[in-house]
Amino acid sequence: MTNQPTIFDKIINKEIPAEIAFENDTVLAFKDINPQAPIHVLFIPKIRISTINDIKDDQAELTGQLFLAARDYAKQIGEDENGYRLVMNCNQNGGQEVYHIHLHFLAGRQMLWPPG
Ligand code: 5GP
Repeated sequence: MTNQPTIFDKIINKEIPAEIAFENDTVLAFKDINPQAPIHVLFIPKIRISTINDIKDDQAELTGQLFLAARDYAKQIGEDENGYRLVMNCNQNGGQEVYHIHLHFLAGRQMLWPPG
């Protein structure tokens, strides 16, 4: 998949609205428009990386920050002890629809396994 702009660039640039849950210099988190759980937030890097396959070795810290931001958010909203699920889909079989990597944060209900 080529490195094309996605709808998430417009959210980063505040060209279209989103309900922001967290933001710092490198990471943005906003509520999913089609939530699959009572709490469904997407954590994305502010720079565009199309898929997990496109993450460079020197972007390990940046991608790690998505997890740290999600961890802090879970604590902030009081869901850290109840638990939550983090998911990142890759390409067609992984169910990826938006080609700008994003960590799904899902909470507020019992998650099932295996996923569909
Ligand atoms: P994927 O299937 O690529 O892992 O997940 C993409 C997610 O982005 C979906 O859960 C979808 O609902 C969400 N999404 C797509 N377009 C928008 C949008 O314009 N705004 C927001 N907030 N979420 C979006």
